[in-house]
Amino acid sequence: RISDVSRIYKIYAKRLEKLGIKKIEDFLFHIPFRYENFSLISKTGNAQAGEVVTIKGKVIEIKNGYLRRFRTIQKAKIEDETGIIDIIWFNQPFIPKSIKTGDFVSISGKVDLDRNRPIFKSPEYEVIESLNDTNTIHTGRLVPVYPQTWGVSSKWLRRQVNKILSENKNELYEYLPYSIIENLGLESYIEAIEQIHFPKDEISAKNAKKRLSFDELFLLQLSSLIKKREWESLSSKKPFSVEKFKKEIEFFLKSLPFDLTGAQDRVVKEIFSDLSSKRSMNRLLQGEVGSGKTVVSAIAMYLSYLNGYKSILMTPTEILAQQHYKTILKLLGSFEIKVNLVTGSKKPKDLTSANVLVGTHALLFKNLGIKNLGLVVIDEQQKFGVKQRAEIRKKGTNPNLLTMTATPIPRTVALTLYGNLSLSYLDEMPKGRKRVKTWLVPPVKRNNAYKWIGKQISENKDQTFIICPFIEESESMKTVKAATKEYERLKNDIFSNLRLDLLHGKMKAKEKEDILDKFRKGSIDILVATPVVEVGIDIPNATIMLIEEAQRFGLAQLHQLRGRVGRGDKDSYCLLFAGTTNPTSLKRLKSMETIYQGAELAELDLKLRGPGEIFGTMQHGIPELKIASFSDFDLIEKTRKEAEKIFPEIAKYPKLLEKIEIINAKEV
Ligand code: ADP
Ligand code: MG
Repeated sequence: RISDVSRIYKIYAKRLEKLGIKKIEDFLFHIPFRYENFSLISKTGNAQAGEVVTIKGKVIEIKNGYLRRFRTIQKAKIEDETGIIDIIWFNQPFIPKSIKTGDFVSISGKVDLDRNRPIFKSPEYEVIESLNDTNTIHTGRLVPVYPQTWGVSSKWLRRQVNKILSENKNELYEYLPYSIIENLGLESYIEAIEQIHFPKDEISAKNAKKRLSFDELFLLQLSSLIKKREWESLSSKKPFSVEKFKKEIEFFLKSLPFDLTGAQDRVVKEIFSDLSSKRSMNRLLQGEVGSGKTVVSAIAMYLSYLNGYKSILMTPTEILAQQHYKTILKLLGSFEIKVNLVTGSKKPKDLTSANVLVGTHALLFKNLGIKNLGLVVIDEQQKFGVKQRAEIRKKGTNPNLLTMTATPIPRTVALTLYGNLSLSYLDEMPKGRKRVKTWLVPPVKRNNAYKWIGKQISENKDQTFIICPFIEESESMKTVKAATKEYERLKNDIFSNLRLDLLHGKMKAKEKEDILDKFRKGSIDILVATPVVEVGIDIPNATIMLIEEAQRFGLAQLHQLRGRVGRGDKDSYCLLFAGTTNPTSLKRLKSMETIYQGAELAELDLKLRGPGEIFGTMQHGIPELKIASFSDFDLIEKTRKEAEKIFPEIAKYPKLLEKIEIINAKEV
């Protein structure tokens, strides 16, 4: 723990934690995101305006000056054998306390002009031992620039890293097998750690990054292989019979109001093959929004029932649980299957007699009294943490696990993260679905857009979602208030002749249910909602989706929201309103107009916003990479290959194992 180490870190502990620094060694893995190139050393006599240079010299004068409004200016003069140069800083009155007349200093920055004389304005600086001193860290070299946070500057971090590096260098050790280092031409570990922070030159920085990126993904790959082995050794169960119930399954499929798509058919076969094996299923079903995952899971639950087992279907929101409850009841209820709903606000009567339990997290906290749990389905699994996913399985002994998501992760990434999972893809949409036409609407067209929506509603009975932005991470009162205000505005000023209603996460379960029922029945024209409808809601007659402050959402998330419409055979539309003029943001949103594949959008977001953004908020349980990137598919591939090669003899490399254990311990 960092707060145990020294007083100063104790004071900084909270702030450092924001940067992911909890232990002393974490400083060494706080990786600079770029370097300032201050390696050109010059003499005062040669300094030219516009150049970025470093000058070493003796301080011949330094003092504070005072400007208006309590602002201060610091002025200094530095001398070397070729002349004198002026320096000014603003509002840093402590500088004359740390630099004294007579000190030797190293100054880096861009040379400016002041009345035709060269001058440094707010340069980097540090006191040095002598003019020959080359041990500088803030000047005179490639200087690392770190992600900083309030009260923890890049410069302060640089000082800590330098200190910790020199004090703890002896504790760093090489742990990769020599063969890998040799074959792939990697830098040594110790060298890489040093050079990533204080590189000799650009090439060293690059090599260091290459080595550490390799390590990061390679260790993840190994840990995923270990998890796979663990799953395989632990998870045995009684196989389900499929053959025996062929007739029943066929009859069930005929009872559906539609034919399964080719992809659904294939995935059902994959699932059945898992269920009929001796090893518990652990399958991730990734499917485009609206591709029909629910019915696939229902078929699996039916097979579970036929084999005399119970099933659980867990969802991240109460609204979704209610919807699934109804869907499953409709699909399975007529087959004498008892379905029960378990949510935080609804007290179920008799759980023990149910064959299928549908519910939210509330399932985790209840004593379900299930003896023969055969199958656990987790819908929108990205919304659950690793722990919760493991927890729900403990309601039975090694039940089969089917997790489902509409935010597909590229296959290579999925393998890296979940080595113990089998993957299924629903890559085909039901027949007759039309593309949801998508527009990024410029602010000047807002009123036209409203008019157009009004017309669509009165002429075609189109139903509309209007999504208000989330203001805070989870659905807070602030978000609810903003949505309520927007709802009032739309109801009173814009669509006063239409039927509007409001849906947000802080409503009582019953209220939410009633509103969605009314919307489903068509007695609401426009449903103003917070992003609670983001996942899973299925209302086939809704055809228009309007999203406010669209730039606050990830592309995959927008795709999810867009997936709430276009579920029937009517033409559907998605209108994006952006609360920004930033061209990069707008370009990102614009891609929604042309890209209709969730996987492609997720990948694009990965590149544009980085994994922290997309996975951090959307995909629980995904480790944040410090240096490598989940969009570096080549490196993911390469580390996978190397990991698989070394894995059978991993026991021969105790130092490597130790590193993996550290990673695995972090995860829970
Ligand atoms: P998601 O994969 O996003 O969870 P759902 O399971 O909610 O999608 O299905 C979306 C809609 O498509 C539902 O209304 C469902 O009844 C319908 N559906 C599912 N499979 C088919 C199919 N093969 N043909 C036609 N409609 C289907
Ligand atoms: Mg769904």
